[in-house]
Amino acid sequence: MSSVSIPEDVFDVIILGGGPAGFTAGIYASRAGMKTLMLSGSAGASQITFTPHVENFPGFPDGVGGYELVQKLKKQAAKFGLQTKSEDAKSIKQIDLGGVKGWEVEAKSAYKTLALISATGTSWRKIGIPGEDEYVGRGISYCATCDAPFFRDREVAVIGGGDTAIEEAGFLTKFATKVTIIHRRDKLRATQIIQQRAFANEKINFIWDSYPEEIAGGDDGVTSLKIKNIKSGEMSELKVDGVFIFIGLDPNTELLKGIVDLDPSGYIQVDRDMKTSAPGIFAGGDCTCKLLRQVITACGDGATAAFAAQHYVRVLKGDSY
Ligand code: NAP
Repeated sequence: MSSVSIPEDVFDVIILGGGPAGFTAGIYASRAGMKTLMLSGSAGASQITFTPHVENFPGFPDGVGGYELVQKLKKQAAKFGLQTKSEDAKSIKQIDLGGVKGWEVEAKSAYKTLALISATGTSWRKIGIPGEDEYVGRGISYCATCDAPFFRDREVAVIGGGDTAIEEAGFLTKFATKVTIIHRRDKLRATQIIQQRAFANEKINFIWDSYPEEIAGGDDGVTSLKIKNIKSGEMSELKVDGVFIFIGLDPNTELLKGIVDLDPSGYIQVDRDMKTSAPGIFAGGDCTCKLLRQVITACGDGATAAFAAQHYVRVLKGDSY
């Protein structure tokens, strides 16, 4: 028998973030009969929606588009009753809910919940050199899927040596005549198969051991990059019409600062059940501390977080067995 009296307007679970982790959590929580709300953000686009082709998600031998995959997850979650609102959570605070502790999420309205799952993902990191802010949208981009068609028959530079930079460079060659990858080391961080494709692509060139010092341009946007060779100190200039920056990601965890434990880079620390250090707050996907940030691990995290949240809510309500 339940010994608490929880108000009607309280959700069992609120999920923050509408990517693979969030929607998988939504599928599991809703299917388990939890009254669940997702705040998917006003931009409505998780990072994976910008990936044209996901080729390592099990069950799709021919690959699947990132956007298509999220749409399928969304449809599946809605089938089980997940409510979704395209709102940004602005703040979170702990409140009393009829004798038990819960959380209030301030978005367009204030939403109350017993359990919260943070699946807020990451955002592209900026490089912080002169010209970056000035030419965003006028030659500088953080998304090849979005902006590559603007560079048809042009020359572009890509900064970075990870999976994203090298995959996106390959995508850019469908439009640009020449893609120059500038990397601060003499070898790439990207996975072997992704590297091999880039090395075999005649439109891709590399400038090794180098760092861009400044992005220069004029009224029509970016015109060149000033590059420093880190080993020799030599400076050079590369004429380009566009610069795509893919130097990693920062976690979207500002909201939870001071509420849950974060690692020094701002990622949420979770245990194997996706519990954070705060009671009733769970987390999953790219915003958490983990070895492998991929769609498959995000989905796994989302499922575990929802299962753990469901158990937590049932215990609070006194109806666990
Ligand atoms: P990442 O793996 O962190 O790579 C970032 C790259 O940018 C590194 O090469 C790094 O250089 C460079 N870099 C970092 N800060 C820099 C700075 N200030 N100036 C110049 N260069 C800088 O990031 P990511 O490529 O975005 O990938 C993020 C995660 O998503 C990874 O776990 C990745 O495996 C995953 N991902 C997977 C796929 C796939 O499997 N198909 C596709 C995309 C992304 P150093 O190498 O010197 O550190």
